[in-house]
Amino acid sequence: MLLLGSSSLSPKISKAHRIDNYTGLPAISGMELAERLKAHLDEVGVEITDKQVGAVYAMGDYFALQCGEEMLEANSVIVATGVVQTKALDGEDKFLGRGVSYCATCDARLYKGKNVAVLGYSTDSAEEALFLSEIVDSVLYFPMNDNLPDERNNINVIREIIGENSVTALKTDSGEYDVSCVFVLRDAVMPDKLIPGVETDGAHIKVDINMKTNISGLFACGDVAGKPYQYIKAAGQGNIAALSAIGYLNEIKKEV
Ligand SMILES: Cc1cc2nc3c(=O)[nH]c(=O)nc-3n(C[C@H](O)[C@H](O)[C@H](O)COP(=O)(O)OP(=O)(O)OC[C@H]3O[C@@H](n4cnc5c(N)ncnc54)[C@H](O)[C@@H]3O)c2cc1C
Repeated sequence: MLLLGSSSLSPKISKAHRIDNYTGLPAISGMELAERLKAHLDEVGVEITDKQVGAVYAMGDYFALQCGEEMLEANSVIVATGVVQTKALDGEDKFLGRGVSYCATCDARLYKGKNVAVLGYSTDSAEEALFLSEIVDSVLYFPMNDNLPDERNNINVIREIIGENSVTALKTDSGEYDVSCVFVLRDAVMPDKLIPGVETDGAHIKVDINMKTNISGLFACGDVAGKPYQYIKAAGQGNIAALSAIGYLNEIKKEV
């Protein structure tokens, strides 16, 4: 079993000031809950493989997971990536794969010697920008969050990713920046972009009561599987997804 993600767990846990609705652990801080979860993982010997998954491809009887320049294989995958809460920029969907990238470590080499921009929404964005800077010619770094300030003359808002066949510039209120790629680095990407062919409902993956998706061997749980967005619901669905994945693996073993 491989657990791919962030070794610091989720920023949505560590940033929570006080949690009152996790049964058995009342009034716990997010930081403490994260520490307890981490200690539990250590106790049962589950290591977090600190890797960002760029894409999950269903290959029929197995899955291929793209992690930077590495390709991993799995018989079954449980998706627990959380939910994307920022709106796509104009041009983002249109140029995805043609100058819009969600993964610096996967695509940096494609832009060797070029100018690129990084829209840093995620906690690891600054680190990814540093990695990029070693390969590309120059990096324009924009720290991002969900809130746009009120309109003011001296605030420069990013409006659109523009280009023709591929990206040529990032358009802002004060003009255009020439770039060959815009790296949009969020904590999670829309599930249908991460897993081609998965059935979604907006930002959520469609699941049945056993956390099964439309793709055989692929399960989803937590925020990415729908509302309510709560820790205890994510943990409970994780439990069901794990049992379903084990059931699936046992079934395919019998068929061999
Ligand atoms: C400030 C705040 C306070 C909250 N307070 C409460 C509360 O008091 N009670 C409550 O019940 N809920 C609360 N919530 C909601 C709760 O945080 C979420 O419901 C819960 O974290 C969902 O867990 P999850 O595992 O589904 O997703 P997340 O916690 O979002 O975790 C997803 C993980 O997957 C990783 N990931 C994403 N994409 C990839 C990829 N491609 N490759 C590798 N890793 C990836 C992310 O880095 C992250 O570590 C709060 C949320 C916030 C933001």
